[in-house]
Amino acid sequence: DGAAPALEVRGLTAGYGGMAVVHDVTLSVGHGEIVGLLGRNGAGKTTTLMAIAGFLGKHEGEVRVDGTPLRGPAHKRSRGRVGILLEGRSVFPSLTTRQNLDLASVDPDVATEMFPELKPKLRLRAGVLSGGEQQMLALARTVGRHPSAILIDELSFGLAPTVCERLLSRLRSVAESTGAGILLVEQGVHYAAGVADRVLIMNEGLIRAEMPGAELIAREEEIERIYLGGL
Ligand code: ATP
Repeated sequence: DGAAPALEVRGLTAGYGGMAVVHDVTLSVGHGEIVGLLGRNGAGKTTTLMAIAGFLGKHEGEVRVDGTPLRGPAHKRSRGRVGILLEGRSVFPSLTTRQNLDLASVDPDVATEMFPELKPKLRLRAGVLSGGEQQMLALARTVGRHPSAILIDELSFGLAPTVCERLLSRLRSVAESTGAGILLVEQGVHYAAGVADRVLIMNEGLIRAEMPGAELIAREEEIERIYLGGL
C-alpha cells in the first residue's frame, strides 16, 4: 500500500511489567519525513521507541510499518522493516569499520556512498574514529539495511554542536534518498526543531502537542515553560 505512512502508531500504551509509562500514543511518520519526539528527562521518549521496536511488551495499541501491523519479538522486527539506533555509540570499538558493517550485513559500498567520511576509515578500528564518525558508522549499520522506519534515540549524545549539525543534515539526506520515515528522540530542542518536519512534545507519558519544527523555534519559550521544563 503505497499510500500508507512509513510508521503508524495507534493507541500505544506500554511500560515495564504491569506499570504503564506511556499512554495512548498515536503518531505517524510519512516516507522521507523526520518527526522529532521531545520532552524532558523521564517523559517516556525512550520507552516509546522501545515499545515500537518491540523490546517492551505493549499493553495496548498497534504499530504498522508501510501499512502492515508489526507483531512478535524485537529480533524479528529489527531484522525487517524497523531500524533502531539506541543512545550511545552502537559500534564495536575493537572491530574495524568494515567488520562493523559486515556484522550488520551492510554493504561497505552502500555505507560509504551515504557517508563518504567512512571510506578512508574502513580498515581502522571503530574505537579510534571520532565521535561523529562513530555515530555515522552506527547510522550506516542501521540505515544500510533499508528499513522503512528508523527510530533514533539521542543522535546528538555527547557530540560537539558543529558535529551534531553535520550529522543531522545527513539525516535529512538519508530520509530523502531512502524514503524512510525517521522518528528522532532528542534532548536538544534546537537540533530537533532544525531538522524535523514536525515535532511531538511528550510530557508524563502523553503526547501533549504537535507542531512544525519551525513553529517550535518561534514558540520555544512558551513551550519550554509548559512542557519541556528544565531543558
Ligand atoms: P531520558 O531522556 O531521561 O531517557 P525519556 O523521556 O526517554 O527520558 P524514559 O527513559 O522512557 O524517559 O522513562 C520514562 C519513565 O519510565 C521514567 O519514569 C523512568 O523512571 C521509567 N523507566 C525507564 N526505564 C525503566 C525500567 N527499565 N524499569 C522501570 N521503569 C523504567
